[in-house]
Amino acid sequence: MRVLVLGAGVAGVATAYYLHAQGHSVTVVDRQSGPARETSFANAGHVCPSYATPWAAPGMKMKSMKWIAAAWLLRQDTPLRYTPRLDPHQWRWLARWLGECNVARYAANKARMGRIARYSHAQLVTLRERLGISYEQTTRGNLQVFRDQAGLDNAGLAAQVLKDNGVDHQLMNVDECLAFEPALARSAIAGGLLLPCDETGNCQLFTQHLAEWLKTQGVIFRYDTAITCLRSDAGRLSAVETATGTLSADAYVLSCASGSFALGKQVGIALPVLPVKGFSITVPIAEPDKAPQGGIMDEALKVAISPMGDTLRAAGTALIGSNNTQVRSVDCNTPMRSLSTLFPGAGVLGHARFWAGLRPMTPDGAPIVGPTRYPNLFLATGGGSNGWTSACGVGRLAADAISGLPSEIAVEEFSVARFT
Ligand SMILES: Cc1cc2nc3c(=O)[nH]c(=O)nc-3n(C[C@H](O)[C@H](O)[C@H](O)COP(=O)(O)OP(=O)(O)OC[C@H]3O[C@@H](n4cnc5c(N)ncnc54)[C@H](O)[C@@H]3O)c2cc1C
Repeated sequence: MRVLVLGAGVAGVATAYYLHAQGHSVTVVDRQSGPARETSFANAGHVCPSYATPWAAPGMKMKSMKWIAAAWLLRQDTPLRYTPRLDPHQWRWLARWLGECNVARYAANKARMGRIARYSHAQLVTLRERLGISYEQTTRGNLQVFRDQAGLDNAGLAAQVLKDNGVDHQLMNVDECLAFEPALARSAIAGGLLLPCDETGNCQLFTQHLAEWLKTQGVIFRYDTAITCLRSDAGRLSAVETATGTLSADAYVLSCASGSFALGKQVGIALPVLPVKGFSITVPIAEPDKAPQGGIMDEALKVAISPMGDTLRAAGTALIGSNNTQVRSVDCNTPMRSLSTLFPGAGVLGHARFWAGLRPMTPDGAPIVGPTRYPNLFLATGGGSNGWTSACGVGRLAADAISGLPSEIAVEEFSVARFT
């Protein structure tokens, strides 16, 4: 079959890989000049099957309101910020998100995110072994750190959930945290939770290597090609209009991150995918002895830190209501503060590169994958805050659905139909 993959982020390129492996003739289309130039470009790099958690959680309504109020009234640097817009899509999404903030929905959503994250991790390991791809990955486990006793108490609860779900983990006191990650500032932490199965890696490098390999195998990449319109005819997707002409295929995969909403709408598919802006800094390592050896999650500031080659990446903050990727250095204060207080002297902060990306978020945190009401249009989008972690699983599930193969985990629970 001739398949057009719309979007060359990590999810689109992973989908192209599995489609190619299943014998299809694949073309990938993207408006950028190369792969992974948007949200997959400079994310925090955590591949976290054990950590995968929805943002819609019990207690988040209150917490969000406090953060938003502090950001507005006190101009504080909070993990969540919100700019209201006259946009029905934003309001509908927020109403749905609030509806997910209860114990029952949280438990169901976390379990579902965990299923795709673990499946995706297994796919990633197989893929990298098969192709010999390396992407500055670390595989020693990620450490969640807590800055105070309250955070540590919550970690006790999280540990119980992990135990119930059979997820490997270890609660650690300060000495144990320092034995695992010697460069951590002792005075900054109260304890930690080690997740030995979690990893880090440079998502952009991974996607770029995978795209380069696919090119050698005959997969076509059409860059600098903005998709302007999806066309349907007689109940099927018939063509894709681009700035440089019309493209058609036997099947299509929509993998345009938060851009999927506008494109889906053109053919009557409502995708609750909202851009939630986040920021990262990338700094050269100043002194390797002072830098982390693996992934760190700073729970209090909601910042994830990863070593990436001779640099350190720190990323966080959720800004709802911004559709652009403009970034000012002040937007990156929280990642900067997290890195400099947990690992003082590790990075050359004066040489930080600042970046912003738009997480393609669904209200329940899980991606949207699989068929639509058009028999030849499929989805691989909505990876949200975990889109790097879930990309290979999303790609494999989407390809299986197109090929009519049975999927190894239930694709139905990632269907867009769950929102209707
Ligand atoms: C600050 C931050 C930190 C993060 N940290 C992590 C993390 O540690 N772990 C994790 O798992 N996830 C993380 N994420 C989330 C992760 O980066 C995303 O979920 C993931 O990169 C999404 O991949 P994607 O392929 O769906 O989207 P993208 O990489 O954005 O790809 C979509 C592609 O579609 C193209 N496109 C869109 N519209 C059009 C159009 N009209 N025409 C042509 N092309 C179009 C774009 O150019 C783009 O290349 C983070 C995100 C942010 C912002």
